[in-house]
Amino acid sequence: MTTAPLKIGLLGGGQLGQMLCEATNPDGFEVVILDAEDAPAKRINGHKEHVTGSFKDAAKVRELAEKCDVLTVEIEHVNTDVLEEVATKGVRSASTGEMRTVPVHPSWRTLRLVQDKYLQKEHFHQRGVPIARQMALDGDLDSLKAAYEALAFPFMVKARTGSYDGRGNFKVKGPEDFAASIDALKGLPLYAEKWVPFVMELAVMVIRTEDNEGNLQGVHSYPVVETIHEDDVCKTVIMPPRKVGADVCAKARRVAEEVISSLWGRGVFAVEMFLLEDGTIMVNEVAPRPHNSGHYTIESVPNLSQYKAQAHAIMGYIPPQLKIEPAVSKAIMLNILGGALPHSHDRLVHLARTAYIEGVNIYLHLYGKASKPGRKIGHITFTSSAGVDLEQTIAPFINEVDKMRL
Ligand code: ATP
Ligand code: MG
Ligand code: MG
Repeated sequence: MTTAPLKIGLLGGGQLGQMLCEATNPDGFEVVILDAEDAPAKRINGHKEHVTGSFKDAAKVRELAEKCDVLTVEIEHVNTDVLEEVATKGVRSASTGEMRTVPVHPSWRTLRLVQDKYLQKEHFHQRGVPIARQMALDGDLDSLKAAYEALAFPFMVKARTGSYDGRGNFKVKGPEDFAASIDALKGLPLYAEKWVPFVMELAVMVIRTEDNEGNLQGVHSYPVVETIHEDDVCKTVIMPPRKVGADVCAKARRVAEEVISSLWGRGVFAVEMFLLEDGTIMVNEVAPRPHNSGHYTIESVPNLSQYKAQAHAIMGYIPPQLKIEPAVSKAIMLNILGGALPHSHDRLVHLARTAYIEGVNIYLHLYGKASKPGRKIGHITFTSSAGVDLEQTIAPFINEVDKMRL
């Protein structure tokens, strides 16, 4: 048994990395971050070993690996070639000159697959998981016409790689949108996806564990949440989903666990899903890391938030019998997105700092990032017991968020 601090190398030091550091500090893990000097996560975890640079730069990833026991990510848009190299061939030790392999969790195979949204969903489809019909595009007018013939209007044109918060998505309602979609997503590898007339979006966080030989040990799902997106960006997360039966929630968890079983490596994963009128659940996409839809776990599952779970899973510390039980009956998370002005969010933040609502706990998280229009700069989580109409009681907060909208 080792008592030396275990070093986790983290590619990316944004708010997800920041919350990972907040959660792992009490456990005595050391998180070494590769990102820009002023990355938010580095402020939580001040020490001299952090690496300054880009998580896409192979030399910097090797430098990070050389210092660490295991590597993980807070973002999937990383250099997977070098991650494969350090996990399989190894990295040279600066002190002994010997090569040493460094495990990467989740696996570089998972990261590489998930990076391409089209291939990711082909993988799920081949395993019998329902997804929206999709087809790869050449990015020219003819391929858009073929997409219309196969999928009908409306359909989504999406960038296969590099997208987040809907940046990389274009809804094509008719032939008049063809030119604009090509123009908006110029130069990116594209695919088309059938429009899904969903009644609700759901998400489930799943912990995946493996033995040291890479054999799947278990998948453990968190409660299902409803996610509400506006302009393709997540605005609100609600646990449990409103007016959804226990059978649908159980099914969503089963689908999410099945999807994550089909990937490789340890860690926490988010599964975004569409719920259709007839009860069908389709998988939208997977994020191989802690996720916006799992922020609520910080206060709702305090013994094993998604961040703590990420660290414990990659270290191999998750007990096989684990059952995730939330400590509260209801939670709502509101994202704080930057408004038109740098201080547009001040009123909302002040309200979160000063409000008292009987039976409701209010938790403010600011990420220390400069506000830019539409940028995720913080969130507020509200929790309550089952008897409280949580949505109703937090209406003043939702009004403030709506007032800030651009
Ligand atoms: P993220 O920040 O979650 O990674 P992203 O840029 O990868 O976002 P998607 O998850 O593909 O984007 O889409 C963002 C949102 O757009 C979805 O949550 C959903 O609200 C809407 N959307 C995406 N695809 C479809 C579809 N085929 N039909 C209907 N709505 C869709
Ligand atoms: Mg995405
Ligand atoms: Mg998404």
